[in-house]
Amino acid sequence: MAPMLERFVSPGKGNGLRATSGISRGRLVVSAEPLASCVSNMQAREVCHHCFTRRETLLRCSQCKMARYCDTTCQKQAWSVHKRECKCLCRLLPRLPTDSVRLAARAIFALLSPPKSSIGELYTLDEHESHLDSMPEQKKEGLSQLASMLEAYTQQEVSNLTQEVTSALPSSCRDALSLIAKVTCNCFTISDGELQELGVGLYPSLSLLNHDCRPNCVMVFEGTKIQLRAVQDINPGDELTISYTETLSLTEDRQKQLEDQYHFVCRCQRCESPEEDGLMLSGEKAKWSPLKEALSRLEGLKTESKWQELLESCSHLLSAADGEVPDENLYKLRITDMALDASVHLELWEEALRYGIKTLPAYRRHYPDPHPVHGVQLLRVGKLQHYLEFTDDALDTFTQAFKILKITHGEDHPLTFDLQMKMEECRCETDHKSSGKH
Ligand SMILES: [Zn+2]
Ligand SMILES: [Zn+2]
Ligand SMILES: [Zn+2]
Repeated sequence: MAPMLERFVSPGKGNGLRATSGISRGRLVVSAEPLASCVSNMQAREVCHHCFTRRETLLRCSQCKMARYCDTTCQKQAWSVHKRECKCLCRLLPRLPTDSVRLAARAIFALLSPPKSSIGELYTLDEHESHLDSMPEQKKEGLSQLASMLEAYTQQEVSNLTQEVTSALPSSCRDALSLIAKVTCNCFTISDGELQELGVGLYPSLSLLNHDCRPNCVMVFEGTKIQLRAVQDINPGDELTISYTETLSLTEDRQKQLEDQYHFVCRCQRCESPEEDGLMLSGEKAKWSPLKEALSRLEGLKTESKWQELLESCSHLLSAADGEVPDENLYKLRITDMALDASVHLELWEEALRYGIKTLPAYRRHYPDPHPVHGVQLLRVGKLQHYLEFTDDALDTFTQAFKILKITHGEDHPLTFDLQMKMEECRCETDHKSSGKH
């Protein structure tokens, strides 16, 4: 465990992690490699299964035809982890196991050729709750199906294990159902610097981090390495927390998600005094209701990449709401964000910039602490301004993005590094322009 933190029993929450010394905002608290990780099925064709880099062209594993790599170097380095998985995938073809089944299998395989450090990690996983006892029957049923799939998928490879190796597994990891229950409850979504989902991973020591709807830490990834950073000043003895849910959502929705997925009732300060819901629901209900009702249809269009139709619907709804619903309203903000996405996909840059700028004051109010989502939004808007040659505005927006990203991502993160290059470019362009005038 990193020197700044220790495990403790958090009242009402079970195990947790707390600070052993003061931790100032922006400080890297801990970084960790996963015990196991995999690119999600949705991203499998676009992301290297070894280094998790997104690329247009990737080499395909000639056997399973599922795993893809940047080049032969990534492929070679991945082989020790992919070897057993590859056989399992071939046996199940053309069926593809779900992400959680692939991840659970990788956790088992990690144990077959474990670096010493990962054994301790697995025992940490052994201590995690599976929540099977308190789970509704329907959910248990779903997990049982995943457990059967895990058994069918790993059958040959696992029955080949020597008795010795099997007995080295913590007891809870020998039973497919409790392993899959733990994996679904303790896995982290791995995303790139711009917060686009890449895959899933298990980081058992960080699974001890408890949730708070206004957390004092955030997690950002570099490849598959997780980095936990403080976004508030933390006192010695304070519990370290992260958010398991989307920060920008109503108390009722956060609580429902936490109960359904993580099986607890959140009693954090933000949940106990939900004033912010008022800001998220600002404006007259009769005016914003049509926006709320349209959301699921719009999200469907987004999932299907129907950008033209999405943009038309959003733009229609937003013009009707203009002047009637404040920009801070959560539903209006979500639709403005979708209009931004659609415009970017359609390469309508001026339109994208117009929507992007409209979201910024609302983001500022909704994210009182430095938050990756806010930093990345500023970065997106800055890039649009830069591309459209509003250089002074771009530099200003990039500067605001940098203030946040140096805390949430750190100054060494590739995204922050790229941002600094962009700021430098803006400065050069401005100098060039002003010297040209003389
Ligand atoms: Zn790679
Ligand atoms: Zn393969
Ligand atoms: Zn809460």
